[in-house]
Amino acid sequence: MTTKLDGKKLSNEIKEELKTRVHRLQDKGITPCLAVILVGDDPASQVYIRNKKRAAQKVGVKTLDNVLPASTSENEIIDLIYSLNNDPQVHGILVQLPLPQGINEDRVIQAILPSKDVDGFHPQNIGKLFMNKGELAPCTPNGIMHLLANYDIQLDGKRVVIVGRSKIVGMPMIAMMLNANATVTVTHSHTHNLKEITREADVVIVAVGKAEFLTGDYFKSNAVVIDVGMNRNEAGKLVGDVEAASTADKVAFITPVPGGVGPMTIAMLLKQTIEIAERSI
Ligand code: NAP
Repeated sequence: MTTKLDGKKLSNEIKEELKTRVHRLQDKGITPCLAVILVGDDPASQVYIRNKKRAAQKVGVKTLDNVLPASTSENEIIDLIYSLNNDPQVHGILVQLPLPQGINEDRVIQAILPSKDVDGFHPQNIGKLFMNKGELAPCTPNGIMHLLANYDIQLDGKRVVIVGRSKIVGMPMIAMMLNANATVTVTHSHTHNLKEITREADVVIVAVGKAEFLTGDYFKSNAVVIDVGMNRNEAGKLVGDVEAASTADKVAFITPVPGGVGPMTIAMLLKQTIEIAERSI
C-alpha cells in the first residue's frame, strides 16, 4: 500500500494556523508584509507570483507589488531592494527568479537584507543552514522537511539520495538532511549509474526538471519518493520528474504532482514572512 504525502492538505492546515498568528500580530498593530519583485514578463513567473499573492491574501499577509519591465537595470533592482530593506513596514522580500538575461542574480540576491530574505537564498542564510543554525531556509526543501515530519517519516540514520543539486532545491536539501542525521548522497548530470544509487535509498528527493525522468524501477519497494518536478508533458499535462504510473503503487510513500511539494513551498514562504514579522515585536 502506497501512502500519498498530501501537501495540499498539510499546507491548508499550516495556513489556518498562520491566520491565527496574523490576527495576533494585527492585535499589536503589525500587518505582515511581503514585498514581491517581478522583473520582465516570463509567463511561468507571473503564474507563480499570482499563486503566492493569492495565498498571502488568504492568510492576511499583505503583498507589495514591484513589477518592473525587462529593461530594468541591475542597479535599479538593487536600489529598489535597498529601499525595501530600509522600510520597517516590509518584513519579507522575494525576488522572483529567473531574472532577465544579463542581470547577475547572485548580486541581486546578496542585496537583500539577510533578515528579510524569505526565500532563504542569501549566502549568509545558506551558510547558517549548513552550520545547522538556520533561521530563514529555502522554501521548497523546508516544505519537504515539514511534509516528512508530518507523516512521522524518520530520517536519522536513513540513506537519502538527492537527485539534482540546484541552488533552490537540491543544495539546501543536502544541509537539511545532514542536519536531520541522514546519510546523504547527491547526484547530478555527471553521475554514473543513477539507478544503482537511487535503488539503495530509503528516501529519494527528485529535483531534475525532466518530465517523468525516473521510472518505478529506480526505487526499492519501501522507499519514500519526493517528487519536486513540475513539468508539462507532450500532452500539456502537469507531471513530475517521477513517472507516477510505474511508481505510485510500488513504493511506500510518494508526493503527488500536483498537490505534493508545490503547496508546501508557498506555505513555507508565508510562514517565514510571519516569523520575520513576529521577530519585529
Ligand atoms: P535545475 O536548476 O534545472 O537543476 C536540475 C538539476 O538536475 C541539476 O543539478 C542537474 O545537474 C540535475 N540533472 C540534470 N540531468 C540529470 C541526470 N540525468 N541525472 C541526475 N541529475 C540530473 O532545477 P530546479 O530548479 O532544482 O527544479 C527541478 C524541478 O523542480 C523543475 O521541474 C522545477 O519546475 C521544479 N520545482 C518545483 C518547485 C515546487 O515548489 N514544487 C520548486 C522549485 C522547482 P547539474 O547540476 O550537473 O546540471
